[in-house]
Amino acid sequence: MTVTTAQFRQSAAAAIADPRLQGALEGATGKFRAARRAALAELPDADALRDHFKALRTATLARLAEHLETFERNARAAGAQVHWAADGAAACRIVTQIARQHGVALAAKSKSMVSEEIQLNQALEQAGVTPVETDLGEWIIQLAGDPPYHIVAPAIHKTRQQVAELFSALIGESLPADDIPRLTAVARGLLREQFLAAGLGISGANLLVAETGSVVLVTNEGNGRMVTSLPPVHVAVTGIEKIAPTWDDAAAWLALLARSATGQPLSIYTTALTGPARPGDPDGPAEVHIVLLDNGRSALLGGQFEEALQCIRCSACLNICPVYREAGGHAYGSPYSGPIGAVITPLLFGLEEYAGLPHASTLCGACLDVCPARIDLPRLLLALRAEEVRRGLLPAAESLAERAVAWGLAHQRLYQLGAGLGRLAARPLTHDGYTELPSRLNPAQERRLPGLAERSFRELWQSEELDES
Ligand code: SF4
Repeated sequence: MTVTTAQFRQSAAAAIADPRLQGALEGATGKFRAARRAALAELPDADALRDHFKALRTATLARLAEHLETFERNARAAGAQVHWAADGAAACRIVTQIARQHGVALAAKSKSMVSEEIQLNQALEQAGVTPVETDLGEWIIQLAGDPPYHIVAPAIHKTRQQVAELFSALIGESLPADDIPRLTAVARGLLREQFLAAGLGISGANLLVAETGSVVLVTNEGNGRMVTSLPPVHVAVTGIEKIAPTWDDAAAWLALLARSATGQPLSIYTTALTGPARPGDPDGPAEVHIVLLDNGRSALLGGQFEEALQCIRCSACLNICPVYREAGGHAYGSPYSGPIGAVITPLLFGLEEYAGLPHASTLCGACLDVCPARIDLPRLLLALRAEEVRRGLLPAAESLAERAVAWGLAHQRLYQLGAGLGRLAARPLTHDGYTELPSRLNPAQERRLPGLAERSFRELWQSEELDES
């Protein structure tokens, strides 16, 4: 997959031209934004908590290896098996091997962005295992064959009519789109069969707690609990950065995660899993595996992009971003969309392949304002753009134009001449204070450019000086 600036613009233009999609995007992200604002306002000092969380994430990453070793030791002591995966292929191999060892034909999954990152479903299918997503949104996009549209709400681009069509095709009966209770009852009935039949439950992890070797899952539908307690074997796949050294640290993490994501004080279910079922437990898997995925993360440690690893995938930056809210999730060509997607996708999958994404931002800074970990996403986007220049990844025409502009700006007389000529050239195109450029020169065609001032700042300044003298 590649996403150049031209490809991003093309996908964004298609989304912008679809009024239904625009309505769905604004409806969902607007609701999340308002809920987040209200939830943070209820905290006695949300800013202090965010500062504390930033410090905590920074300190944790500074000693990541140590915390991971503590986690591994404590998870093993609790009876879990811990696996290290250098990349996505290794992680998929580990999971498919576990499935093979247990003769698994059906795997029930709860929502996991990491499994999207490593394309685990495709690997399972190739290994003869049928993966079934059990988060409602993930299940809808699995049935539709779509990638996720949003980190927290993967199916926000689907209308209830489209969902009704998908479910109708599945059960061979026409379901009314307006009967939401009926649609959810159908989903519940079908998914319950999968929980009971699955030989393997696969989850991600919202966070790991090193001091007890626990996996913490945050869900709203309860499917995470089914996936991790009904099948006899549970595999959790997660990135190595998702670690909290202690439960106190986890408490700060959880206090911000749901509030920033959906505006809930806590999600409906917060599940802490420590090892397999113990003798006497009424349920729980006999075997637990935890796959710790690197996939390019450790290479970011200690460098200018380390801060990106502080992300807790809350989606607040997507919901506020003016580019995501127009372009939608699929324009990013990655499971990770929005401002964090524009940063983490090139870092994990290659800047050459995703050279367009660091430009998918106005650098307005709204993402930094809402991020619970105060990740400086605008700085990271600019650093990626600089890296593109360093590696010679800019299209030749763009590179030439930017060099010409830089040269012109560095030569005062040339700049004055260029600005004067520009003012002259724009005059016939300027009416009522706005300049109408030909469409080829104005990619944002619906925006009107304010006309250039009649006199430059330099001219005004000089004339004022003359007046004073
Ligand atoms: S970058 Fe910040 S706001 Fe965006 S998903 Fe990550 S934690 Fe949330």
